[in-house]
Parts: sequence; C-alpha cells; structure tokens
Amino acid sequence: MASVNKKRKVDREGRRFQDKWKFEYFFTEIRNNCVCLICQETVAVFKEFNIKRHYQTKHASYDKLTGNKRGEKVKQLEAVLTAQQSFFTRVPCDESTDASDTAQLLIFLRGVDNDMNVSEELLDLQSLKGQTRGTDLFVSVCSTVDDMKLQWNKVTGIITDGAPAMAGERSGLSSLVCNKVSEEGGSAIKLHCIIHQEVLCAKYMKYDNVMKPVIKTINYICSKALCHRQFQQFLLDIQAEYGDVLYHTDVRWLSRGSALQRFFSLREEIGQFLTKKGQPMPQLNDPVWLADFQYFSFLYL
Ligand SMILES: [Zn+2]
Repeated sequence: MASVNKKRKVDREGRRFQDKWKFEYFFTEIRNNCVCLICQETVAVFKEFNIKRHYQTKHASYDKLTGNKRGEKVKQLEAVLTAQQSFFTRVPCDESTDASDTAQLLIFLRGVDNDMNVSEELLDLQSLKGQTRGTDLFVSVCSTVDDMKLQWNKVTGIITDGAPAMAGERSGLSSLVCNKVSEEGGSAIKLHCIIHQEVLCAKYMKYDNVMKPVIKTINYICSKALCHRQFQQFLLDIQAEYGDVLYHTDVRWLSRGSALQRFFSLREEIGQFLTKKGQPMPQLNDPVWLADFQYFSFLYL
C-alpha cells in the first residue's frame, strides 16, 4: 500500500518520468525509480533538476555522443540493464519474436585472439518456423555453423539464457552443442548468461589485484608534475600510440574503463618508464595478471 500512496502523491505533483530524459541524461524508469543507465545509481525524485545534476556532475563526458550515436548508446545501456534485471529476478527469458510472431534465434560469436583482443559479432539470425525445443534450436545452430564453414572443435563454450530449451540438462541447446563439440574432438563448457556473471564477478571480486597496482602507478605518474612531464617526454621519445595515461578517478566508470584501456595499450612503455625510474612494476610481466587486467578493462568499455 505504501508504494501505491507514494505513487499517487508523486503523480499529483506532476512528477513523472519523462521519456526525453533517456536521451538527454541517460536515465530510465524502473519500478518507480529513476535509474541512471550509466552507473545504475538511483535518483529518488522525479525532478529534472536532480537528474540533470547527476548527469552533468558524473557523466558529462557522454556529451560527446550526439544524434544516432547517443541513441544507440542509450539502447545498448538499456539492454544491459534489462538483462541484469531479469537475472536478478530470475525470470526465464522469453523467446524473442518478430512482428509476425515467428521466434528469432540470435547467434553471437565471441572470440579471443593471441593478443587477448576480444571481439563479438552477430553471427546469424535464424527464424524458427515450427517448435522451439532444444533440438530445433540445435538444428538451426548447426546450419549456421555449416554455412559459415566454422569448425566445431574450435568452440570452447556456449552461453545461453536460462530457458529450458537452452539450458535443459539432457536436450537443451547448450548440452547438444557441447556433445557435438566433444564428438568433433574439442571440449566446450556451458555458461549461463556470461554478461551477468561478468558484471557480478567485477562487483563482488572488485579486482583489487588489478585495480590497486594500476591506480598506484597512474597516480605515481600523474601526481608528481615532474614525473608526469618526464613520462610525456618519454612517450614522445618513443612515439607511443597515445600521448599520456588518463588520470583515474574512482567515481566514474567511463573514466575507469578509459584509464584501463589506455594503460593496457601503453603497458610496455609504462613498464620501461617505471624500470628506468627504479620503480618496476613486476605485474606487467605476469601473463595471468595481464589476462585479469584485460578482462576487467573489457568490462568497463
Ligand atoms: Zn550515473
């Protein structure tokens, strides 16, 4: 009852979520809350002033996204949030259907190359005419894999949502794919909605082993003006791709992602510089640490 009364009061005062706030301030409405699509913080009042202030103080860097690009970013962030919401409420994801009610199966392919660059692309969209059991999905996936001339034994994992046709132990799509991969001499694991697991991992593990040394190094380079200038000069001398490391601020995810990305691309130069200054960073030569680092920075792109 409490929430109903509260909603009426809010309505009376004319404070409703306005759709334009999505595009202007990256906000959405979830269960009578204004939620920031970027950092997922909640702003309690439906007032443009508060929402605008949140956006301007925390995410002003998104101003550079305009027009279509801005609209696409809003959609993308909304999709991430919706996926997380459905994970937390544990509602099995519904089938995606098009306007004619034909179920559509979207198949994405994610790969990692030797330099740990991760790429993900939509591989195929299959319209499912009849039933949508695990075996029907499997037939569709097989035809895509054959059409694209992909090798089954290169598949290392399959990620699906929690619907029984996908995740069912015996005849769900993920089990059928894993069996097929073993028949072809490979080995694949089943994962459930990795995007949620990634977000949860990052949230709970906090990745201190990654963040602490990186922040320490960035602060070391940036906090002392002399050291900072020396680093810029050092980069000029070796003509690195970027001119400088980005200063990390703890409050902004975007800033965290950009700082990590740039740090990663400059890791060799940073390593050389620190060694020269007598402050070596041994993690930069540890492949396991670098893998953690790349994984974490990828999350906050
Ligand atoms: Zn925010």
